[in-house]
Amino acid sequence: MIQAPAKPAPALAPVEKETTVGNYFVSNYPPFSFWKPENLGDVATALGRLPASGTPLGVYLHIPFCRKRCHFCYFRVYTDKDSSAIKAYLDLAVRELELYGSQPFIGGRKPQFIYFGGGTPSFLSESQLQDLTGRMKAILPWDAAQEVTFECEPGTLSDHKLKTIRDIGVTRLSLGVENFSDHILDINGRAHRSREILRSYHFARELDFPQINIDLIAGMVEETEANWQDCVRRTIELSPDSVTIYQMEVPYNTKIYQEMKAEGKLVAPVADWETKRHWVKYAFAELEKASYTVASGYTAVKNPDRAHFVYRDSLWQGADLIGLGVASFSHIGGTHFQNQHDFEPYLAALRDGKPPIYRALTPTAEERLIRELVLQFKLGRISRAYFQRKFGVDVLARFGEPLARLQASGALVLDGDWLRLTRDGLLQVDRLVHEFFLPEHRTARYA
Ligand code: SF4
Repeated sequence: MIQAPAKPAPALAPVEKETTVGNYFVSNYPPFSFWKPENLGDVATALGRLPASGTPLGVYLHIPFCRKRCHFCYFRVYTDKDSSAIKAYLDLAVRELELYGSQPFIGGRKPQFIYFGGGTPSFLSESQLQDLTGRMKAILPWDAAQEVTFECEPGTLSDHKLKTIRDIGVTRLSLGVENFSDHILDINGRAHRSREILRSYHFARELDFPQINIDLIAGMVEETEANWQDCVRRTIELSPDSVTIYQMEVPYNTKIYQEMKAEGKLVAPVADWETKRHWVKYAFAELEKASYTVASGYTAVKNPDRAHFVYRDSLWQGADLIGLGVASFSHIGGTHFQNQHDFEPYLAALRDGKPPIYRALTPTAEERLIRELVLQFKLGRISRAYFQRKFGVDVLARFGEPLARLQASGALVLDGDWLRLTRDGLLQVDRLVHEFFLPEHRTARYA
């Protein structure tokens, strides 16, 4: 049993039933709204320090271009940029990497992981991809990279482009499938259709990518139980190396919310949380029947010995990350920072030879501990020994009260060194991890 607190722990926050506006997915801690422009001095200090021994380094590049804006999208993306704007962006993103490449924090390291996210990295042409990655490798070689991930929108992939993506060194191809129904794809504003999913998937298989991931979203507008079950069945038929499933959320900057606001609605026209969790539970159960292993609150992998998530696991254990591109997030030597989140200010800073950084935060030692605890709980378990070794903290003693609440609610079990979430706990992990937030961060919006 987890040590009972001196007075009975209050119950967990009540479960929200309907899907209302706001962010659900927790991607960092402390929340972004606590990162401030007045902390920018911390960034220069962090870049000027040598790295702590053994800290992995990664590079993320945000490609903010898409063919269409999906109605549920809350990322920084543009659908109106012509080829000269795209060229200017890529040139300046390379210049941004150059700015970092000579700083002391690099300390002779080479990136252990590279991630092309978006937006739609596969929106770029073959020649843009070859030129971009050739210049990136000349600044920080990729020969030590264990993983190069590339996000794709299936409708942007030709056979030639997929071959180029393989040739530039991508090891992990992530296909944004989201749903297999053309009607659901259409009504949610997606640009691709199911035949493009099948075509690109099969050709990618022929090219022998070491890992192909399929992304799905549970609870898109007009999704039904029958449609969801069909999506799960068709995913398993394709037999990808990993499957990532997100529960539909409706943040403020989505088209869905704009329409809700215009119509005076508080509840989003998507499945409620209980239904979405039920659908993900169903998907995980079907994937397990097909010999997949559930590896986090969002992923199932076909072969846990081969399908790694170097980017995710490194970041969630405090790796350094250079985030390039508009609105990207970095984490260097214990300092978080985020780039300018609009296109022109981002380009203008780099044209002036300055880092395009907008806001920063250096978490305290306690906040760093909570950050890793929160992020690693998303894997479904945390190791007490890891936190004792790295932070000198017994998490059972430090977090006895919230852990007792989770255990009493049936969301958590103690298993030797491991604190494990039950399947029901795992399916609502982004809600439960708020239990570990410091009081001043509990009411913050993820913005
Ligand atoms: S493809 Fe992805 S990044 Fe682009 S608009 Fe759709 S959800 Fe947003």
